[in-house]
Amino acid sequence: MLPLAPFAANEADSRGRRYAEPAAEYRGEYQRDRDRIIHSTAFRRLVYKTQVFVNHEGDLYRTRMTHSLEVAQIGRTAAVALRLNEPLTEAICLAHDLGHTPFGHAGQDELNACMRDFGGFEHNLQSLRVVDELEAKYAEFPGLNLMFETREGILKHCSMRNAREIGDVGERFLKREQPGLEGQLANIADAIAYNNHDVDDGFRAGLLSLEQLREQPLFALQYDEVHRRYPELEDRRLIYEIIRRMINTVVTDLIDNTRRNLERRKPQSIDDVRKADGPFVAMSDDIYAQHVSLKRFLMRHLYSHEKKLEMTHRAQAIVRELFELYTSDIQKMPAEFADRAAGNDQAGRARVVADYVAGMTDRYAIAEHERLIGKT
Ligand code: MG
Repeated sequence: MLPLAPFAANEADSRGRRYAEPAAEYRGEYQRDRDRIIHSTAFRRLVYKTQVFVNHEGDLYRTRMTHSLEVAQIGRTAAVALRLNEPLTEAICLAHDLGHTPFGHAGQDELNACMRDFGGFEHNLQSLRVVDELEAKYAEFPGLNLMFETREGILKHCSMRNAREIGDVGERFLKREQPGLEGQLANIADAIAYNNHDVDDGFRAGLLSLEQLREQPLFALQYDEVHRRYPELEDRRLIYEIIRRMINTVVTDLIDNTRRNLERRKPQSIDDVRKADGPFVAMSDDIYAQHVSLKRFLMRHLYSHEKKLEMTHRAQAIVRELFELYTSDIQKMPAEFADRAAGNDQAGRARVVADYVAGMTDRYAIAEHERLIGKT
């Protein structure tokens, strides 16, 4: 394998872990982070958390777990091609959604509304909270004690108020600096993964049609090519063939364009990357416009489809009613959460309840709601 580029994150120049630990015998430090993430409770829960479709709506839809795996494989491909740190990229990709609530964005928006008077709820910041504080796995420290660069990559965005409160990884928002390239890459790999797999899932669910999709330039170009070469192909295989070509188009463009950006602006170290006035990892203008067009299309026709909205309303009611119940009676939560909540002021109690509700899988939230409140 080629050596790391000078602008990649490397262990020797790392800002390290919050709690010092002896080096592992057979693994690099970022590999170790990746392994800690895979062994975490929050990671295992992703298999029962909604990406777009609630887990029980069908066995073949993406869950947050399979989404995260797809993000990681896209991120790793680009990382190797750009001579960036592959294990670090993988670790960030696998961890990026650890803080997601049950029921996807419906759950996150509702929990944010519940927390309005107590500092809000943001899934991205919650992912950092999971790896820094909430995982309880090690005798000597809270959380997973990940490397600075992994934590920096996980925290994609953050309000100025939160940035002031969270210390080291918040500083870059105050200084308006960039994250390392591996973090920049994980962020875009996320968007590439969902844009493409949501076309697949939306089509499978019967909420998107070929006719609609063909109005999207990214899709139309591949459709014409595949249809010309394989005119007899049935729809299911046609869609797969198109999506795999769409991913390839966007990822190849991302690698080529990022390489051009790096050659033009010549960062010599991760610090140059951090201090640059904008990100390096980016698609070309043309492909980016097509990618955004597809994203807007999915927003209009899939995420806010009336069939999805039914589930959205139900999910919001479950999250809100559970939140209200636990804040009014903290003893309804398991002892470890009730104990943490006890003795706190109102905001502190609300934060513990948000941690508890955010950690739930879809089906656990549904079961707890039914047990404690009854069917909605
Ligand atoms: Mg994601």
